[in-house]
Amino acid sequence: MELTRDNYYSVEADREYMSCSQYQAFLECEAAAMARLYLGFKPAESEALLVGNYVHTALESEEAHAEFVENNFEKIYKLKTDKKSGETSTVGKYAAFENADVIIRTFITDPVFQKFILMDGENEKILTGNIFGVPWKIRLDKYVPNKRLIIDYKTAASLTKTEYNPKTGERECFIESAGYLMRAAIYSEIEKQNTGNTEDAAFIILAVTKEKPHDKGAYLLNHAQRYAWELEQVKNNLLNIRAVKEGRQIPKRCGHCEYCRSTKVLKGVVPYYTLKPGFEEEREDEYRDIFTAYMEKAQAAGMG
Ligand SMILES: [Zn+2]
Repeated sequence: MELTRDNYYSVEADREYMSCSQYQAFLECEAAAMARLYLGFKPAESEALLVGNYVHTALESEEAHAEFVENNFEKIYKLKTDKKSGETSTVGKYAAFENADVIIRTFITDPVFQKFILMDGENEKILTGNIFGVPWKIRLDKYVPNKRLIIDYKTAASLTKTEYNPKTGERECFIESAGYLMRAAIYSEIEKQNTGNTEDAAFIILAVTKEKPHDKGAYLLNHAQRYAWELEQVKNNLLNIRAVKEGRQIPKRCGHCEYCRSTKVLKGVVPYYTLKPGFEEEREDEYRDIFTAYMEKAQAAGMG
């Protein structure tokens, strides 16, 4: 399958290729990730995601931004209908998008950001590669081939707030907790496969926060040891993900996500302390009837 701007985010592309977001989705909930691939399950589009795309397309090109605004007009603009004439007019943008316009201005006018944004390069560059025997797809916000720069734009909640990671028992900065180092490691690996270089490209995050006033920062993620560790984690997790994605293993339900809540079947009464922090219940297998239903579809679609 030849990946293009139009089919990059399609279910068909996701069936054939692994991506960083799909990998993260499988780690969060295998059942939801599979329901997305084979049962038409679509998680609700969050406002944060919409705002992120609004900013991204503005940095990509005028046409891309105009197209995005047209497709999401009613989510961006407040509409008012005149009772007498029945005519609809816009009365400004919703607050999140007013705020997004300020974020865009910050990206465009800050001198350090500007240096990168104005560089000759390719926006939304799609690359594919093979990582641990699995085909992957990546889409770079901006790629500057002659300087070997990978640039990622982020609208973040905060640059300084840290998050507790229950697995390591440590607090992490937003770059770690959002999995951007895993992303940087994968992107760098695939960029090397495509260019034949042995050294990693520079991976830079340009971030602006949604806070008022906005915070901003430019960060270099390159860290060879950390990249190696991230790839090691991917290697370990892929064994399981691959078995599930290829239909050789029943996916596990996380039990709490949008998908699991919407399909939940109670089996009886459980002690209250199963809700307390630190109590980790073993994940349930996906329900047999659902698994059977999509395995039929999946095989018809040529799974694995
Ligand atoms: Zn779930």
